[in-house]
Amino acid sequence: MQLLLDDPRTDQLRRVHAGLIGCFGRIIRPPDKRRTPEWTLVQGVIGAQTKTAISNASTDALLARFGTWDAVADVPVEELEAMLAAQSFPRVAAERLSACLKAIRKQRGSVTLAHLSNLPTPEAMAWLEILPGVARKNSAGVMNASTFNRKAMVIDGHHRRTMQRIGIVAEKADTAKTYDTLMPILPEEWSAADMDEHHLLLKKLGQRFCKPRSMDCPNCPVLADCRTGSARLNR
Ligand code: SF4
Repeated sequence: MQLLLDDPRTDQLRRVHAGLIGCFGRIIRPPDKRRTPEWTLVQGVIGAQTKTAISNASTDALLARFGTWDAVADVPVEELEAMLAAQSFPRVAAERLSACLKAIRKQRGSVTLAHLSNLPTPEAMAWLEILPGVARKNSAGVMNASTFNRKAMVIDGHHRRTMQRIGIVAEKADTAKTYDTLMPILPEEWSAADMDEHHLLLKKLGQRFCKPRSMDCPNCPVLADCRTGSARLNR
């Protein structure tokens, strides 16, 4: 009988996680900072190429001004565009948001994601990814970073790039492929909050050491586990 061996990348992920905590400290999202699934969805839909803090502020401003997501769904795109002026692509964000909220209301009668709480995570994510403007990063965000607090790894550009350079996912893997590679090899003891923290730590790694156009490998906290860093320093 053939024994199933653990994937060595699982331990590699544990070591990377520990190294990142050693460098950056713990990054734990307090329970009272988790937002509703609908808020998290909107923040993702309008957030392309925009800093998280700006998208957070825009999402809060929409809700403060109009009161409910159903009311936001009725706002003309031009008005939404003006409200989203701080986003990198206000027109695209407004069009996507309007289409997304209307699509939810058409299917559910109002802008609510409450029905997803009864679905397994993969099915809930598949339902979200049919909506206009929603891709894997956003669907995983709704599952993991909102009050749903489910096991799903959020993958942004920093996360994808660092995982590729470290050598845990294939070099040209897109977000969905990166997600599909990582989810089966994550340490089984990791909670949804651990996954959230892991993602936030990798973001910091990508911002501080492993930037898109420059890498500070000699000082990087995960050098010992990084294929690219080892190759660069052993040239
Ligand atoms: S060792 Fe270099 S390539 Fe690897 S994660 Fe760190 S900065 Fe990026």
